[in-house]
Amino acid sequence: MQSLPSLVVDISILKWNMTALLRRCREWNICPVAVTKGCLADPVVIEALWEREFRSYADANLGSLLSIRKRYGAIPQLQLIRLPMRWELEPMVEAGIIAHLSHVEALDEINTIAQSRHCNADVFLTVEAGDGREGFLPAELLELPKFQHRWSHVRILGISLSLACLSGVLPYRETIHRALAWREEVSCRLERSSLLLSVGGSTFLPLWEDNRVFEGVNQVRVGEAWLLGTDISRKNSFAWLKQGAFTIRAEVVEVRSKEVNIKDTRGFNVFGRVVEPQPGKQRRRVLLAVGAQDIDETQLYLLEENAKIIGVTSNYLVLDVEECTHNYQPGEVVELQAGYGTVMRAYLSPFIKKMYTY
Ligand SMILES: *Cc1c(COP(=O)(O)O)cnc(C)c1O
Repeated sequence: MQSLPSLVVDISILKWNMTALLRRCREWNICPVAVTKGCLADPVVIEALWEREFRSYADANLGSLLSIRKRYGAIPQLQLIRLPMRWELEPMVEAGIIAHLSHVEALDEINTIAQSRHCNADVFLTVEAGDGREGFLPAELLELPKFQHRWSHVRILGISLSLACLSGVLPYRETIHRALAWREEVSCRLERSSLLLSVGGSTFLPLWEDNRVFEGVNQVRVGEAWLLGTDISRKNSFAWLKQGAFTIRAEVVEVRSKEVNIKDTRGFNVFGRVVEPQPGKQRRRVLLAVGAQDIDETQLYLLEENAKIIGVTSNYLVLDVEECTHNYQPGEVVELQAGYGTVMRAYLSPFIKKMYTY
């Protein structure tokens, strides 16, 4: 069967989540931007977003955005949410893709490009909000209006911030209030009345969940929530979204009781980690024909309660099924629910077949 291993995408769950997200965001008076990097901007998934009337997309890869532009023309609003490399500026200006920038020099450069093409470049000023990754420091942000005269062909749309992706710093009401104050200050110094405030990712949604509406936040960039229905930054699921849209299917290629020789000197496994053997002597193990090149075993969940993921090699996912009542056999197919990391890697793996249910 050439359909194994596979990633099965349940489009009906995704559509359900998209509709729920749109409805919530309408109530909260914010515009959702669909972040598509988690599914590598899968055209089948994007088509579902498009049918649900999502018109605003963001991705960390320029190629993904260019392919959306090619398919849907000028209508969708597209943003590159990774700081651009130099070479990306020109194609971004050409394709009308919004940039998130964090250096004065980058604004100078995009201005030069836009000027030579006789057009305008749209940008968000990214602000560091505490996660310790990209963004102007707040003090620098407030100095930017000094340079405004150099940016005749740049339209500053607003300021953007991100949290939880690197250090797991969570947003609080205070985070939003601070950002609103920065926005106010920059608007005032730029003599602009309508700068946007864009926040992301899914970790921001719980701030609105208790119907505590924040006036003034314009857009929220969301990927994980509508893809997986989860908020990994709080190890939570959203009650108003569905989980389980992505399933990994893999074939059992070996079932045997085995003992790891713990008396032997043990080093690190192939990925530099220490793997602790299960207690007891002989343990029944199942080997699945899917490996670290295809999945992230820390974000993969077995449906069978008593089975445990032991670890992964490049070629195999190894399960301990000693406590299971089910009698696993070579040739049978095991299904596992995929989390964000696994979905991303499965999309990137040429060995994983992508399949869809509707
Ligand atoms: C990935 C990303 C998002 C979306 O985050 P999710 O946790 O997937 O919702 C939003 N903004 C930026 C800048 C990102 O890199």
